[in-house]
Amino acid sequence: MRAYLDHNATSPLRPEARAAMLRALDEAGNASSVHAEGRRARAVVEDARDTLAGLLGVRPDMIVFTSGGTEANALAFRALGVTRYLVSAVEHPSVHEAALAAGSATLVPVDSSGVVDLEALERLLAQGHGPALVSIMLANNETGVIQPVREAAEIVHRHGGVLHVDATQGLGRIPVRFAMTGADLMALSAHKFGGPVGAGALVVSDAVALLPLQRGGRQEQGRRAGTENVPAIAGMAAAASVAMGEDTSRINGLRDKLESVLQGAVVFGKDATRLPNTVAFARPGLLAETALIALDLDGVAVSSGSACSSGKVASSAVLAAMGVDPALAQCALRVSLGWTTTVSDIEAFAAAWQRLLARHAALRAA
Ligand code: PMP
Repeated sequence: MRAYLDHNATSPLRPEARAAMLRALDEAGNASSVHAEGRRARAVVEDARDTLAGLLGVRPDMIVFTSGGTEANALAFRALGVTRYLVSAVEHPSVHEAALAAGSATLVPVDSSGVVDLEALERLLAQGHGPALVSIMLANNETGVIQPVREAAEIVHRHGGVLHVDATQGLGRIPVRFAMTGADLMALSAHKFGGPVGAGALVVSDAVALLPLQRGGRQEQGRRAGTENVPAIAGMAAAASVAMGEDTSRINGLRDKLESVLQGAVVFGKDATRLPNTVAFARPGLLAETALIALDLDGVAVSSGSACSSGKVASSAVLAAMGVDPALAQCALRVSLGWTTTVSDIEAFAAAWQRLLARHAALRAA
């Protein structure tokens, strides 16, 4: 029995998503074909779009299906009519890279809790010229810290700019309605809320026109060429329906229980409003790489607090932006809970953590 506590990396596929995908896999047609098979595939895509639109409180035509959060972020930076880019210092690498590809980006700093500095945002917007695209995530993937996106939207709009919100880690964990965020663009990724990997969406308001990344087809109203991945789209909508209706207080309770066993550890972003499912912490002197491997061998899957897309532990840009001592940042771990998490998982973590601390103390004493 393993305890899987890495839902911010990927949350296991929900049974409702699997069932919707299996049904869609048997549709033979291309969603752009005019025959009956094609029309059936089209109906699956449009039903999924309607479902997602209803959940987010937007018109269906505002949703562009993509291959995931990375592509949705990249597409957001193709907004026409903007001449400068401002991104928070704690954005996901896909946002930083998209900003670099679009031109150059000014970093908006965060405070020591990881919350974006709105006064600095206002100052930076006032300093430059021309309409800006500002990117501020809804919640951080490493710390779970929730950003004041609504307040940011008001500032951005006052300065004639548009706001992109990467909501990849927010959906299914906190209530998300597009209008509530004040955003003009919003990125989503299905595999963070129990949908399949390789499916996502960009929500686009009427205020923004996009230059497509992929051309060569009229799919997604010319905003994203390529034959639609019908099963993945169906799975995403099915997962969103369940995830967005879920009461996350159960997860929040489990996360608090987990935090209570972390004596002697520093919890990052503890004073900020955080996602109910995430805790990023460091036990001084206990390297993340060592802890990660030891916990894995003991049956518990967690992540290092740093970006580790290549499987290697690299130092975290998010923690650096928060001013965390680099030596402490090397010890940062992330535990993230989700729909499969039970009390036994938390107990398994607590026991493995105690065993690890005891071994570590014995080694240091030797
Ligand atoms: N944004 C954030 C905040 C993320 O956590 C991730 C996934 N690590 C992404 C974007 C990229 O999403 P995807 O894996 O679907 O490309």
